[in-house]
Amino acid sequence: MKRILVTGGAGFIGSHLCRKLLQGGDEVLCVDNYFTGNRGNIAQLLSVTGFEVVRHDITFPLYVEVDEIYNLACPASPVHYQHDPVQTTKTSVIGAINMLGLAKRLHARILQSSTSEVYGDPEIHPQREDYRGLVNINGPRACYDEGKRCAETLFYDYQRQHGLQIRVARIFNTYGPHMHPQDGRVVSNFIVQALRNEPITIYGNGSQTRSFCYVDDLVEGLVRLMNVEGEVAGPVNLGNPNEITILQLAETIIALTGSRSEIVRRPLPQDDPRQRCPDIDRATQLIHWQPRVELKEGLSRTIAYFDALLGTSAAPVRL
Ligand code: NAD
Ligand code: UDP
Ligand code: UDP
Repeated sequence: MKRILVTGGAGFIGSHLCRKLLQGGDEVLCVDNYFTGNRGNIAQLLSVTGFEVVRHDITFPLYVEVDEIYNLACPASPVHYQHDPVQTTKTSVIGAINMLGLAKRLHARILQSSTSEVYGDPEIHPQREDYRGLVNINGPRACYDEGKRCAETLFYDYQRQHGLQIRVARIFNTYGPHMHPQDGRVVSNFIVQALRNEPITIYGNGSQTRSFCYVDDLVEGLVRLMNVEGEVAGPVNLGNPNEITILQLAETIIALTGSRSEIVRRPLPQDDPRQRCPDIDRATQLIHWQPRVELKEGLSRTIAYFDALLGTSAAPVRL
């Protein structure tokens, strides 16, 4: 049995990770400042033996005793990470320094949740880990993209300089239950709009692409990456290579909810990546991982979650 720290454990991905680690018999210390996460995501875990929660901001030092660290704390939705961009960079950079300092003192293995955003608006497609990216260093997304890039730099410098055992997962768009209904990400926005029969807001013409991974698949990948033997030489993409346009996503969600929503257009945000799709060869070879949940199945589970949360009772889900 291990004692495992999950920063950002009350967030969307973090709460699923906490549950999986507890199911595996480990003890979990969840640390969160509730900026975008909430207690509801972890309410069912509070009665589980071996689960503990601390309200704490990782931009401040943290002195606890653990065997492993998953560093997930950071707002992930563009709306939220742009709300207080300075704090976003601090969370990624100062937060990484604090968690790396903690890992160094404890000789604990540490995993960083990096992001496909380190590739920016990519010129190569699909994105492999050796692609260095095209990020606008002073645009509205830079606080997140550059913060995450700097965090990766810190992880590799702590590995080289202090011999830390590190893991870096580059996570691509992930969706599922526990997404915040107002966090502005496309899957939660479209599902909430569809369930309420409100207009579905497509930014731009909807031809931009994303590749959506169901949260259970993603969390399985994180745990496998953490537990793989030996030193891992570089970052590992984790995502679902099934790429679709945003317009196709809207049409699929309308069909799955039986919604009467119309599609409306809104301006495309600055620096919005035109296409994104992971090359997951490294993950397949290294941790024998690939996503299993089909988009329609994952969306149906997510729709059922939001339907119950919002009390819309308007979702005749049909696959
Ligand atoms: P989320 O916003 O739901 O969760 C982030 C959690 O971190 C929240 O509970 C929030 O309160 C907490 N947090 C934020 N700043 C903090 C701070 N300074 N100190 C302590 N806690 C803090 O987002 P998510 O989708 O669950 O993302 C989790 C991680 O995965 C993030 O690091 C994100 O960058 C990364 N990621 C997510 C996606 C995705 O599609 N969901 C894609 C790429 C990377
Ligand atoms: N740190 C922490 N918990 C610990 C050990 C360190 O939060 O258990 C923080 C501490 O605030 C420090 C940072 O991690 O500033 C980096 O630690 P490191 O040992 O690498 O550097 P130093 O202490 O020399 O600045
Ligand atoms: N998007 C959209 N309508 C929305 C929210 C998002 O068309 O209501 C688009 C957004 O412009 C982007 C894609 O959907 O092209 C994914 O956006 P999200 O914020 O979910 O994630 P990210 O841009 O970080 O991949």
